[in-house]
Formats: sequence, C-alpha cells, structure tokens
Amino acid sequence: MPTYRAPRGTRDLLPADRAVFDRLMRIAADLTARYGFRPIETPLFEQTAVFERGIGEITDVVEKELFRIAPRTEEAESWALRPEPTAGIMRAYVQHGMQTWPQPVKLTTTGPMFRYDRPQAGRYRQFWQFDVEAVGDAGPAIDAEVIELGHRFYTEAGVRDVEVLVNSIGDPACRPAYVETLKAHYRGHVATLPPTERDRLERNVLRLLDSKDPDMAALNAGAPRITDHLCDACAAHFESVKAHLDALGVPYRVDSGLVRGLDYYTRTAFEFYVAGREGQQQALGGGGRYDGLVELLGGRPTPGIGFGLGLDRVALVLAEQGVVAEVETAPLAVVVGADPEDTVGRLRVATLLRAGGLRARADLGRRKLGRQLEAAGKDGAHFAVILGDELADGQVQVRDLQAGTQRLVAMGDLIRDLARAEGSHKHG
Ligand code: AMP
Repeated sequence: MPTYRAPRGTRDLLPADRAVFDRLMRIAADLTARYGFRPIETPLFEQTAVFERGIGEITDVVEKELFRIAPRTEEAESWALRPEPTAGIMRAYVQHGMQTWPQPVKLTTTGPMFRYDRPQAGRYRQFWQFDVEAVGDAGPAIDAEVIELGHRFYTEAGVRDVEVLVNSIGDPACRPAYVETLKAHYRGHVATLPPTERDRLERNVLRLLDSKDPDMAALNAGAPRITDHLCDACAAHFESVKAHLDALGVPYRVDSGLVRGLDYYTRTAFEFYVAGREGQQQALGGGGRYDGLVELLGGRPTPGIGFGLGLDRVALVLAEQGVVAEVETAPLAVVVGADPEDTVGRLRVATLLRAGGLRARADLGRRKLGRQLEAAGKDGAHFAVILGDELADGQVQVRDLQAGTQRLVAMGDLIRDLARAEGSHKHG
C-alpha cells in the first residue's frame, strides 16, 4: 500500500485517460468556435454567497455537496470550490458589465468542478464539465440552437444513441401555482413518502419529481404534470423550442418529470442520455434556461441559457462503447549514435529537430548502438537518425525503422527530409 493516495472521490488522469479528455476538449473548442462561443475562464473558487444565491440554498448542490474552503483567519470571507460553472460566469457577466456588449454574449469554458458528494461509480468529488452559456437572448430559437450544439458534441465525440429529454418548468408567472398543486398531490400521500422526500415536500417539492427513490415511481407517475399547467407564454415558448428541434432533426423526447436539481432554471430544461439508460446517475449532461439568475446576482434582469456536459461520464461511455482515441505519442525520430558517450551530440541533433517542429527523442543512455536502435524500435519511432563517422562530412544515416531501409542525409537537409517523410507517411 502506498503511503499517499489521491483524495477519495478524485482520480489521476494518467496519460491514456488524459488523451481522451484532450480529444473531448479539442472537439468542444472546435465546435464552440464554429457556433460563435468565446472562451472564458473564471476562478475555481468564489465567495460562497455566489453559489448560495446563484444556485439556491435549498438544493443538494449547496446544502449537502458544496466544497467549502476553511478560512485561515476569522475575518476571512467564506469561499467554496465551484460545483458548476454557471453562477461564476454570471457573476463575471455582471462584474464586467457584459450587459453593454452586443447580446447575446456567448461564452464557453471547460474545467474541473467540485462536489463534496458521496463518491460512487460515475460520481466524483472532482469532475470535468464542458459548459456553454448564451446570455441576453430570451429564446426560444437559441434554446434549440444550444440543445443542438450539445447533441452534436456527443455525435462528434463518437457516442452512439444519445437522446435528448426536454421539458419546460414554467416561470414565476405559472410555476408557483403548479408548485401548490404538486404539494397538494404529495400531501395526500404524506404517510407513504420516504423521510428525505417528506422533508423536501414543503421546501423544494419539484425535487420529488426527480427522486432517486424507487418507492416514489408510482406516486410520481400520478403527479400533476407541469406541461399541463404552463401559462400561455411558457407554453408557446416550449412549442416553439420543439418546432425548432424538429426542424434541426434533433431526436428528443418530452419528459415532464425532468426538473433539474438547480433552483434558477426557468422554462426550458434538458438532459442528454444514452438511450435506454435514463436514470439519475446516468445523465451525460444537462442544462436549461435561467432567466432569473443575472438579477439574483445583482445585475439587470437578463435571460440566459446554457449546459454543462460531464466529460468523465462521456469518457466512461466511450470506453463502454469501444471508441478509442487515436493519439500520436511515438517520436517521429530517435537520435542514436555509434559513440555511447556522445550524449552531447545526440541531444544537439534532437534539439535541432525539435526546434524544427518535429517529435524527436535523443537516446541518453550510454549503451551500444544496437541497444539504442532496439529501444527506438520499441518506442514506435518511424526513423532512427544515426550519428557515426559520416558526421565528419556533415552527414548522418537515416534508417527507416518500419521499412528497414537506410540512407545518407546531409545535416542541412535533415529537418526538411524527415518532415517530408512524415508528411508522405501521414497522407500516403
Ligand atoms: P448537473 O449540474 O448536476 O446537472 O451536472 C451536469 C453533468 O455533470 C451531469 O450530467 C454529469 O455528467 C456531470 N456531473 C455532475 N456531477 C458529477 C459528479 N459528481 N461526478 C461526475 N460527473 C458529474
């Protein structure tokens, strides 16, 4: 047993795992650029109040899972690690006066989030999210645009059978009445409610709808549906989101039980699943409209919509579905030499190749040429650059380790020669 281990609920992304994440982040960066989102970076921690106000105090994320930072002095402010990126980005939107920028302001970020949750499969205390936020457009067209972008991310990542669940959770005009109707429904069955759900009934009844408790299934199936209680404006908005999704060919299903865990959502809510695996722990990602959030954080009333897609779960699903990321890590060339002691010579040539933009390794072991070549082969290198007697005439041997051929190349031509060989290898 090693003395020190990564903290519970976290994991090391070893190079093979990290390569998967890199690929996902490249896809995210490329996609969001095509859709006109600009990258933003906010701190990994914020004043606790940003999350308490921006997410809602009566949510699991704040109540139970917020990763609080113990202050070092009494007068220090209270900080917490971000459990999700939206509240911090909206804090930045207000702080930097982005209301005066051309609207909508379309922002994206990818990075680690923290929740002090009980660790279990697919649920970590530090996990990664790819996030987009479109602020300053009340929709409904942009709602569909954002959902389509999320769906395309999975498609380009190679995840098969991704399905979108959508719902409307109303707005301050119609939700309060629905909440009362819903409370009345559950109050009628209060004796059969599991204790945690009974506790939530008066404080955040919407959460009962997405309860993980199997005992709740029957009760939830008979619950009044929010889509039957939307005001005219919310109903028209939802119809239009669906019409846009139809037109864009995004496969979706309406799920009236989808309410999402966070308080600030209004109207459109959505989640992405692998079809057939719609369970609480299985959401690949989700998002929604949060028209009240900017105002909550001290800005002018400003509508917004966004999503957070968990990269850890995408990586898990890709592994399950057998999708592997092809990443080139082998060097193009390894510099070896007849004189085992001449590490200076080998390192100098490798440095030259690297400065010329090529992936090169110098053999720094003081061992015989044969052993150096053997190691180059094991590395998966395409070429060995062999320093020998010809160096006196400004030449080196270049051995094609894959073809088994060898030729003399002038030092001055080496970079161009290898680069050309790499190009024809890639495209040939
Ligand atoms: P949420 O903000 O809770 O809706 O989460 C959005 C997405 O982030 C989820 O669908 C998951 O893919 C991912 N996610 C949330 N919490 C965790 C966690 N503890 N560990 C891993 N991924 C998570």
